[in-house]
Amino acid sequence: MAFLIPGRTTRPADDPIFALNTEARTRARAGEAVINATVGSLLEDDGSLALLESVVEALRETPARVAAGYAPIGGTPEFIEAVTRDLFHDGEAAKWATGVATPGGTGALRHAIANFLAPGDALLTTSFYWGPYKTLAEESDRAIRTFTMFDEKGGLNLGAFEKELDAVLEKQGRALVFLNSPCHNPTGYSFDAGEWAAVRSLVESRAERGPITVCLDVAYARFGAQPLDVMVSEMSKLVPKALVLFAWSASKTFLEYGQRVGALVALHSDDAERQRITNALSFSCRGTWSNVNAGAMSAFSRILLDPERRARVDAERARCVELLGRRVAKWNACTTAAELPYPRYDGGFFTTVFTDRASEVALDLKKDGIFVVPQAGGLRIALASVAEKDVERLVGAIQARGVRATPRG
Ligand code: PLP
Repeated sequence: MAFLIPGRTTRPADDPIFALNTEARTRARAGEAVINATVGSLLEDDGSLALLESVVEALRETPARVAAGYAPIGGTPEFIEAVTRDLFHDGEAAKWATGVATPGGTGALRHAIANFLAPGDALLTTSFYWGPYKTLAEESDRAIRTFTMFDEKGGLNLGAFEKELDAVLEKQGRALVFLNSPCHNPTGYSFDAGEWAAVRSLVESRAERGPITVCLDVAYARFGAQPLDVMVSEMSKLVPKALVLFAWSASKTFLEYGQRVGALVALHSDDAERQRITNALSFSCRGTWSNVNAGAMSAFSRILLDPERRARVDAERARCVELLGRRVAKWNACTTAAELPYPRYDGGFFTTVFTDRASEVALDLKKDGIFVVPQAGGLRIALASVAEKDVERLVGAIQARGVRATPRG
């Protein structure tokens, strides 16, 4: 007898990236010189998980009764204020902001899909995208549609975005667009100021055709070469013509992936509409996970709202950004010499080497103890988890597989 409902009977058992990571770790434990470039967490050069000491301290200082108690459904007011300030400081946009706490950025993306896209409709994103976007959409009975991410010059393909946005609006009468920058996962690409201005202007020009929601996935906000304010001030100009959402995550911001804290923040200048959005989002919280980790939310609020603590955490994170920056510099130097094709990469956890033979090459690399994630059109390389000393060997191994391709979406 089939107990699973149709449509759930063929779900894959495990997230493929987690499965690859497990395989790499098993082989490393058996003594092999493994390079595990699959992990989306920042590791020190010795392979241990990088931590921010002042964050650990704030978590430890959390009173037991705060951590043990239920948090309010939509998150504590302090936490929402802390995230709002983190994104907008005291700027105008802060007045238009409403939001709820979510389990990580993942929860924020889930709420965006459930509330701003009708069942059966498709969210629009770049052709290279973080795999869980599709999982999240399908889990909620929505779909995913993409536009070719890069043009021939290797920049954001605005023409393709325009075409697909028009098609989605025509078909669905509304659009939900996921854009992940800075430090796009999986390509490492960060939109520059001109690209943000062009995205803003394009969305603005289509705003009359139907409700457009732009969800900015800023999970890697603190690792970009450009200050987040550039994007925030540009995209805030869309209010109230389009709805602007921020999927904020404490996972990378504080290197605390396991605490499962994030937020979905929406910007709208109309009080009544903002209230309706707040209500819908809190309802979604109640109807899914109820509320999120109270202790971690309290610790992160204290850090973000206390200038002295915040400064200490920022300084500790700066060391991590430098650690990653050294790997990025080494990567850029080695790949240029090896002529590997990959997009502009100036910081962040990942980059992608373009190839049409991703599965074949990734499988072959495993023979040398090198683990990367094969995806449509490329190999995702998590430099966040590769020691600087291993970058050269990694690049050499990919080059040895004859990877040659021209940039594509
Ligand atoms: N968005 C992107 C692009 C990510 O890579 C991740 C994590 O890897 C997230 C969002 C959300 O992460 P979390 O749910 O841990 O905050």
